Amino acid sequence: MIIAIDGPAGAGKSTVAKLLAKKLRFLYIDTGAMYRALTLKVLETKTNINNTDRIVELASNSSINLINNSDGSLKILLDGRDVSSDIRQPAITQFVSDVAKIGEVRRIMVELQRKLGQEGDAVLDGRDIGTVVFPNADKKFYIDADFKERVSRRFKESVGLGQKVSFEDVSSDLANRDNIDSNRKVAPLKKADDAIYVDTTSLSIEEVVDKLLKEIQKNDQSPNPNIE
Ligand code: C5P
Repeated sequence: MIIAIDGPAGAGKSTVAKLLAKKLRFLYIDTGAMYRALTLKVLETKTNINNTDRIVELASNSSINLINNSDGSLKILLDGRDVSSDIRQPAITQFVSDVAKIGEVRRIMVELQRKLGQEGDAVLDGRDIGTVVFPNADKKFYIDADFKERVSRRFKESVGLGQKVSFEDVSSDLANRDNIDSNRKVAPLKKADDAIYVDTTSLSIEEVVDKLLKEIQKNDQSPNPNIE
């Protein structure tokens, strides 16, 4: 079974997707982490962000792997190196959408995401999962929240990670990414026609997870779904 979760940054997608995968004992595939890992490589190799050919070359010659730990956490490996925390740095967040808008980079990542998803039951979160990566996913959700609420969540998260960012920095980063992600030519962020829209503005994580679980169980034929 494939569960697709799309939506803008800060809507709560990854927290919800991770928890949902844990409860269902499904694989969790954080597709944003893959674009972030490539962006880390672009910055580490001092590649100009406008040098599309070189970035595509880096994408073809990189190995990006996601390891689901038994405690529900996720480890991201770039060429065998654990980059799980490096990819959350503000510099990566600042440039990731410029890397992710390159069509050929997306082709490479989508191929990898499909391969990982086909390994078994999986929850994938991103921007184009229900529209492009798995258009035939068993269940699709579009998770959204008011802009101010998304900024506030991201700000708290960044402070929690010990990052020195201001509320205004987070706000302009989110606005910038929303703009690039929604308006790019290839696979822009948008709700799939058959996705269930969930506004999480005034919901807790648990409430969102419950809501999604109920929707998933609606179509589940088995009387007792595999839930922890
Ligand atoms: O999910 P996260 O905020 O970590 O994603 C980082 C960036 O990766 C997004 O802003 C977007 O530019 C890109 N992305 C994408 N397609 C996906 C997942 C992420 O373009 N499926």
